Amino acid sequence: LSEPVQKTFSFPPVPEDNVSQDIDHILETQSALGIDLGGTNLRVGIITMAGKIMRKYTQPNPKTYEERMELILSMCKQAMADAIPLNCRILGVGVSTGGRVNPQNGVVLDSTKLINEWSHIDLRSPVSQSLHLPVWVDNDGNCAALAERKFGHGKGVENFVTIITGTGIGGGIIQHGELIHGSTFCAAELGHIMVSLDGPECSCGSRGCVEAYASGLALQREAKRLHDEDLLVVEGMSLNNKEQVNASHLVQAARLGNSKAEGVLRTVNPSLVVLSGVLSQHYKSPVTDFISQRALSSAREVKVMTSELDSPALLGAASMVLDYTTRR
Ligand code: ADP
Ligand code: MG
Ligand code: ZN
Repeated sequence: LSEPVQKTFSFPPVPEDNVSQDIDHILETQSALGIDLGGTNLRVGIITMAGKIMRKYTQPNPKTYEERMELILSMCKQAMADAIPLNCRILGVGVSTGGRVNPQNGVVLDSTKLINEWSHIDLRSPVSQSLHLPVWVDNDGNCAALAERKFGHGKGVENFVTIITGTGIGGGIIQHGELIHGSTFCAAELGHIMVSLDGPECSCGSRGCVEAYASGLALQREAKRLHDEDLLVVEGMSLNNKEQVNASHLVQAARLGNSKAEGVLRTVNPSLVVLSGVLSQHYKSPVTDFISQRALSSAREVKVMTSELDSPALLGAASMVLDYTTRR
């Protein structure tokens, strides 16, 4: 008979001196995990109370529910492990997603075809059960507005609107300091305001929505159209055969003096305050011009600003956690 192996664990590890342990504890930063689910990308971030993104992870957003959930959970687990040496104490998880969301129960009610298999999805339960943390969920445009309110140009502003461009176009409306969700949670679907009765098909199934003209996907469509006619590439631009033509090429062509590309970008005219996302820099001047020429005179004082935030939807997702868990 062999003796059972005697192992001695010292857990928790005995600190060298208690002072350093106390300091470590004090240095812990209250933080949140943010998740941002878009038409193209899935992002996870460790975000502190002050709105600093300590670490960010980006993957293409998978096309099926199963793969998407699996990737969300594995990216979050990685982030939670990485949060420990960063001294970030994760208080909860905030999720920003494309689609119509009921924030009261964390369910995605439905989505456009930009995100497949993403209707009637209870996001809160699996994420919360798997990570053992409280979970908040809201639409990505709404999250972008929350981010501007907490960390950006919306600080202390009672009423403002934000428009975020990515694959699609999201909106968020803050009135009297609070998000407006509307009776069926689609109050701020500003990307689906119809600006033409027979315009291009939109991801939502309708036609002529702002999103069908001005989103990353719409501009990719226009860039491809110009490229097929050999009208996209101008001097100073390089585009090799293997590269997928996308919105960034259209923007680049316009900057380099391609008037066709510039024309496509000028047709876009939402009226708003904070512009964010991949195309925000480019929309600032057409939006400002349009407001000064065409808006009701009473609305001409509207200020147009571009967001200074890195990843507003992700930061807004985190802000839901930070606002609730640190409220006194
Ligand atoms: P989503 O949140 O919808 O996943 P992102 O905000 O990650 O989208 O942006 C991805 C979209 O933006 C894609 O449609 C891509 O073609 C477009 N895009 C990426 N970089 C640029 C850029 N520099 N200029 C214009 N469009 C861009
Ligand atoms: Mg997005
Ligand atoms: Zn639409």
